[in-house]
Amino acid sequence: MQTRGRTAERVVRPALVVALAVAVVAGFQQSLFGHLPDALEPGLAPIWVLALVFLGAELYVVHAESRTELIALTPHDAGIVLGLFLVAPSELLFAQLAGAAVALLALRHGRPRLVVTRLASLALGTTVAVLVFTSISRLGDPAGPLGWVAALAAAVTGTVVATLASAAAGDALPARERLRTALALAAAGSVAASSIALAAIALARNGDVAAILLLVPFVSCAVALRAYSSERRRLEHMRALYHSMRSVQRAPGLETGVAELLAETRRLLEAELAMVILLPSDPAAAPLVATATARGEQELHAAYLAPVLDGAVRLVLGSGSLLVLADREPAELRGLLAELATKDALLVRLSGDSGARGVLLVGGSGSVPEFTEDDLRLLETYAGHAGVLIENDRLEQSLTEVTELKEQLRHQAYHDALTGLPNRVLFAERVARAIRPGEEATAAVLFLDLDDFKTINDSLGHHVGDALLVAVARRVEAAVRPGDVPARLGGDEFAVLARVVVTEEAERIADRLVRALEEPFVIEDREISVHTSVGIAFGEPGSALADELLRNADVAMYDAKRGGKRRYTSYEPEMHLRVRERQELGAAIERAVARGEIGVHYQPIVDLSTRRVVALEALARWDRREHGLLAPTSFVPLADELGIMLEIGRTVLRESCRQARAWQVSFPGHEDLTLTVNLAPSELHNPQLATEVATILLETGFAPDRLVLEITESGVMRSPEEALRTMLELRELGVTLALDDFGTGHSSLAHLREFPIDTLKIARPFVAGLPDGELDGVFVDAIVRLATSLGLEVVAEGIESAGQADAVAALGCTHGQGFYFGEPLGELGVSAYLGSRTLPVILSHPLSHVA
Ligand code: C2E
Ligand code: CA
Ligand code: CA
Repeated sequence: MQTRGRTAERVVRPALVVALAVAVVAGFQQSLFGHLPDALEPGLAPIWVLALVFLGAELYVVHAESRTELIALTPHDAGIVLGLFLVAPSELLFAQLAGAAVALLALRHGRPRLVVTRLASLALGTTVAVLVFTSISRLGDPAGPLGWVAALAAAVTGTVVATLASAAAGDALPARERLRTALALAAAGSVAASSIALAAIALARNGDVAAILLLVPFVSCAVALRAYSSERRRLEHMRALYHSMRSVQRAPGLETGVAELLAETRRLLEAELAMVILLPSDPAAAPLVATATARGEQELHAAYLAPVLDGAVRLVLGSGSLLVLADREPAELRGLLAELATKDALLVRLSGDSGARGVLLVGGSGSVPEFTEDDLRLLETYAGHAGVLIENDRLEQSLTEVTELKEQLRHQAYHDALTGLPNRVLFAERVARAIRPGEEATAAVLFLDLDDFKTINDSLGHHVGDALLVAVARRVEAAVRPGDVPARLGGDEFAVLARVVVTEEAERIADRLVRALEEPFVIEDREISVHTSVGIAFGEPGSALADELLRNADVAMYDAKRGGKRRYTSYEPEMHLRVRERQELGAAIERAVARGEIGVHYQPIVDLSTRRVVALEALARWDRREHGLLAPTSFVPLADELGIMLEIGRTVLRESCRQARAWQVSFPGHEDLTLTVNLAPSELHNPQLATEVATILLETGFAPDRLVLEITESGVMRSPEEALRTMLELRELGVTLALDDFGTGHSSLAHLREFPIDTLKIARPFVAGLPDGELDGVFVDAIVRLATSLGLEVVAEGIESAGQADAVAALGCTHGQGFYFGEPLGELGVSAYLGSRTLPVILSHPLSHVA
């Protein structure tokens, strides 16, 4: 469309103007038609009569414009035929140009370009007609039938050429799409008009006044055709109107209704652009605009109008309608057509029962003739119906629905449904914006993760977990400064974006967050404690990437967690290194398990009254060749996290049962030797644990009642229900359970009653304070009393001296374990130990250098 438009502008129009000039010059000099006599039938009609014919023809055509049917029968061809016979070619051309020019100037005032191209097209057609006529009539007697044929051929060719030229110039006359029909009709009309003209000439030649009568069929035909045509057009409009009303009405929502309205409007007026502007009830709000063009549609959306369009809309709301033609824009609307990128425009008011609701606007491209008052009337009628249609509260309602829905969808896409906080997408967007080059403040990303949230979620149920997350979200919001952006990134991860000038500001926020979440929550009458670890990463605008910043804050958070939870840490590049090291260590542990590098050492546990070894605690060791023998503290927690601990646990249990059984058999007096084996948290939550333990006991022939499995409170608390089930299953097997490191975790004495435990192991720090530490003495004393009242045995761990051994014994501990009695030993060491009678003995090298 556009390229064609440009071709018309660059090539066709100049070419036509040149053709016009040539035709005029040549015609007047008669050099082209020089050999012809001035006129075949001179004196029959004066030149001004011809000029009048052409004037009428042009008025008629211009009025008819794109209405294909109307241009079918015009006086134009009659004028050509008359001219060919009655006047000289130069006079014909002159009469035509003069008549048409007067008509065009009267109708197209102010649009010289259109006048010139139309005149050029006409001149071209006439020149061609004259050439055809002279070429054919030269073959014989132009006064006879040959002249008739020549005249008919000339008129048809000339009309077709003029029609084509006009269409190619892109101005007036039939829309290109209908060119073929238009040409056929033009040719047919041309033949009809020419024949009548020929008949008139024949009659006139004989001085017959009846020639005048020929005007009657011509005029009546033209009038009938015109009446028929306008009626048909009305019908067509009615049909279009009805059709469009129905589709607009049937459209499911306002948006589709408006889209339908625009499409129908465009079709109705062959318009390039259709636009609906709906006014909001709140005058401060932006109007809703929807457009449709050949290139596509734009749904109803809120948009502020360009000032000139806004002015036009205001004007139309007052006046009802407005026709804006190219080069004739009212002064106050100068630039409107440029704004709309159309050649002309019609605007009408859309009114409902309660007054003006908006404006319907159409714009023409120029490939179709410009809009007329008729079009304006048509659009007014149309808008009248459409206005009522989109009125009826339905509009207002749908409008608010549309806007609200959009707002809702936008909100949903960017917010977390549970807490209403911004989600990861929005957060990442905000972070990216905060570190754009040119921003002044440093962006700080605080990454929060709740410690032990999973435990709560699993043990208390998801509804409690959800309620807790909501409560956490509210506290996070309350802890940040106005302008900071809190977000929930997913699961139990929250984040805050803060713009800071000094890093301490972010640390203060982190500290507030940690403390805010420290306070217990009350959810469904239940007091719940969660704690949080916060990682902080800073990004200078222009130098950091949003992703990187988030990742760094995550790494720092992880580091805070590693470093003992409930605290905050700022990111340092080495942290990434630590993360990598962890990954490498994880891989190394897996390899170690596969290669059988995990072995077991044993530490004796003695009966404090007899000082006899009654049990051995199996402790995992990793013989990591080049690194030496590694203590479990360096790999058990990570293995537990990575899920490798189940495999390690099985290895330790199988190996130690086999070994302990062998010692029972080979050392007299140790037939009842007890074996204690540690269970990592993940093992305790392995639903297959009891089955696996039973299998190993069967395989190794180790008696279940000689096996003690040590669990920790934190292991149980990860998911108390699951842990309890496993513990009961183990109990069923005949296995005994001990609570390890009692006093170090968030110990709760209640657990002692709730869980099926037989033994309590008092953690080393309490023993370490003995025999002098008074408080430690009190603590151990209290524990022992409690345990005894519950029927539990008590093992004191970490006894390093005779004084400590005596102290715990005096406090009522039944058993003791520690370097004083023996360090963890390998197989050979234990064998030697069990065989010796003298106690205490230290046979193996201490592990302190690797622990
Ligand atoms: P734990 O169960 O409390 O084991 C006792 C730890 O205290 C052992 O460290 C032992 O070497 C050390 N220890 C014993 N007596 C003394 C003493 O008098 N003074 C001092 N300073 N330390 C003493 P180890 O072998 O490094 O084990 C550390 C922890 O790793 C164990 O603590 C246990 O929780 C865990 N662990 C060890 N082996 C395994 C295993 O096979 N499975 C699981 N799940 N955890 C294990
Ligand atoms: Ca233990
Ligand atoms: Ca312990």
